[in-house]
Amino acid sequence: MEKILLVGLTSGAIETSHIEIVSFVILMLIGMNILCVWTYLTHQKRQITKRLSIDELTGFMSYQAFCEVGNKIIRESNDEYSLLFMDIDNFKYVNEIFGYEEGTRILQEFSMKLENYFKEAKAISRVGGDRFAIIVKREFVVDSIEKDKIKEYNQGINILDQISHDYYRIYISSGIYHIDTNNVDIPYCIDCADEARKKEKFIYGNTCSVYSKDMAKASKVKNEIVHSMEKGIENKEFTMLYQPKVDVKTNQIVGAEALVRWVSGYYNLIYPDHFIPVFERNGFILSLDYYVFERVCESVSKNQKMKNLKISINLSTITLLEGDVLKQLTKIMEKHSVCASDFDIEITETALIQDACKAVLKVDQLRQAGFSVSMDDFGTGMSGLSRFSEIAVDTLKIDKSFLDRASSSLKAKETLLAIISLAKKLNITTVVEGIEEQEQLDLIKEFDCDIYQGFLFSRPIPQEELIKLL
Ligand code: C2E
Ligand code: CA
Ligand code: CA
Repeated sequence: MEKILLVGLTSGAIETSHIEIVSFVILMLIGMNILCVWTYLTHQKRQITKRLSIDELTGFMSYQAFCEVGNKIIRESNDEYSLLFMDIDNFKYVNEIFGYEEGTRILQEFSMKLENYFKEAKAISRVGGDRFAIIVKREFVVDSIEKDKIKEYNQGINILDQISHDYYRIYISSGIYHIDTNNVDIPYCIDCADEARKKEKFIYGNTCSVYSKDMAKASKVKNEIVHSMEKGIENKEFTMLYQPKVDVKTNQIVGAEALVRWVSGYYNLIYPDHFIPVFERNGFILSLDYYVFERVCESVSKNQKMKNLKISINLSTITLLEGDVLKQLTKIMEKHSVCASDFDIEITETALIQDACKAVLKVDQLRQAGFSVSMDDFGTGMSGLSRFSEIAVDTLKIDKSFLDRASSSLKAKETLLAIISLAKKLNITTVVEGIEEQEQLDLIKEFDCDIYQGFLFSRPIPQEELIKLL
């Protein structure tokens, strides 16, 4: 190469062979090609980067770019900001009813109006589907949205009026998170604003609510629950109480329901209503249900008086439908030398609602293995009697709310009687839960209910106390 260049400079010195000239031309061509390819790739890369940072449908910045810009604002700016999170209610129906193109048009029009309304916004992004996030100065939010002006804001944001379909009005639910520390990031702010949004989500019309200290406290508790759940099992912090099940006619204890409590070092006593929904969402419920079953098997195997009772175990719908439930329960029972006929498994209507075929199959397997099965909380779900006939259970546990309604409504009373009578015809044992007063017990006795459970006889108590009552 050096030689060629030299030759080029010293004209006339034609020592170069033909081969060298040909090589020179080829190299030039290759070089030009490489240059072209490089230019093309650089252009493509720029296009892709641009595409990645812009949402093509709305022209707003992409979620990724929004996070970058937002995080920078949070870290570097001295001003106070808020994050607004908006969701178009039931947008999927717009797509389903009016078609995808109409859906796209509405999203585009909404984006334009949004941009117009939030002229002061530092960043706007469509963070997925029909969800939008906006970063604005706190004072703007406080002036125009808070201070009881939420209604006005809702009207202002009711920009969808003009673009709503003739037969279908579109509403927005919004949540606001005031960013009060630079120790958070955009996904966290979005989660908080979304949590606030969900608070009023089910109210008809445009809604808007602000993330509050109470919500922050609830999130903190939820986080603590998630962080300490595994340790909770390791340290045996989950403990069982038993609530007697009593024969309505003889007033004798015929069984007991195992109810879990979490005695956590951090929060002391935690009731299942606080942690079970969290575990159901993150899947930890399977571990908890099997753990509870193992503790109960341990108690039953060590105590003859417990063995004489049928102990009811609550099994979450997730454990019933997703887990290899019979195999797991059998393994635990074998370990503690107890048998399925010692236990009653309480399932809920949600199993039927979620996957009726699977629920029926799993319940059949459990009953064939020797467990009895109860349908718990009957009357709280949506399935009702029509679905109930699909599944073969031994016991129907009628929810406390039924009883509460029966005390003030004749119709509810008649319904309760009809349910108990129907169950009897189908050879299904009936249990009424939440009996707190003598009149309630008298009523269900009159209706010929078999078993009751409630504070009137006993609250859930430790195993030692239960044994004393036997
Ligand atoms: P559930 O299965 O319907 O249990 C009955 C609930 O009603 C218990 O609440 C019990 O303490 C309460 N109760 C009993 N009698 C009365 C009464 O006369 N009046 C009133 N007001 N309440 C009464 P608890 O122990 O807080 O349990 C709440 C729910 O948590 C249970 O409802 C059950 O769905 C769930 N749960 C409890 N233990 C477990 C478990 O080990 N695994 C699973 N998956 N869920 C469990
Ligand atoms: Ca139960
Ligand atoms: Ca129940």
